[in-house]
Amino acid sequence: MRKLLIKEVASKGITDERVLNAMMKLPRHFFFDEIFVTHAYEDKAFPIGQGQTISQPYTVAFQTELLEIKAGDKILEIGTGSGYQASILLELGAEVHTIEYNKVLYNQTRKFLPRLGYRPHFYQGDGSRGLPAQAPFDGIIVTAGAPSVPQDLIQQLKIGGKLIIPVGDGKTQEMYKFTKVTENKISKKSFKNFSFVPLLGEHGWKK
Ligand code: SAM
Repeated sequence: MRKLLIKEVASKGITDERVLNAMMKLPRHFFFDEIFVTHAYEDKAFPIGQGQTISQPYTVAFQTELLEIKAGDKILEIGTGSGYQASILLELGAEVHTIEYNKVLYNQTRKFLPRLGYRPHFYQGDGSRGLPAQAPFDGIIVTAGAPSVPQDLIQQLKIGGKLIIPVGDGKTQEMYKFTKVTENKISKKSFKNFSFVPLLGEHGWKK
């Protein structure tokens, strides 16, 4: 089933073999609530409790591909959720810092993920402000939909660093890739639309 899922993700345009191989290694069904487990290898987002979701595999692959991770890169993930995306980043050899706003999910995932052998650095708090104490980063990936681009996140990139962030309204968001070319020059590329749960917090949507 996992092979079929990876084939489907590749057929939708993901070409980075390293990303596809990382997804092949991950037992996505371990990240699911029991009642949804039979759906784990569908290319769909699913509820993980607390009104949140595990992202669609294609979306995870799309954002990960845009990060162009090299082993040892320091990556900040905003929105730990189930921990699936963080595990993919670890499989690619990144040093992963992941922050989750929701306390219940934070506590669940920080206990669960090490049992699978995945050990990112976990934080609980408002990731819309980034993680200044650990900055700068080679890459920042935002896995919730933002109303605008938080400048704090751009500031927390290294030169050459990338920010991958979906920005839009509550329903659909366009995917953006910002690259910090020099301290004062930022390049911006936009991609297609996705649909994420909202980014909350100071630079996110207000509850
Ligand atoms: N990356 C996750 C995974 O692999 O399962 C999927 C994340 S889910 C689509 C979005 C997550 O972002 C939710 O768990 C939500 O609680 C979290 N979130 C929303 N606003 C946040 C913020 N300001 N800081 C950190 N996490 C936030």
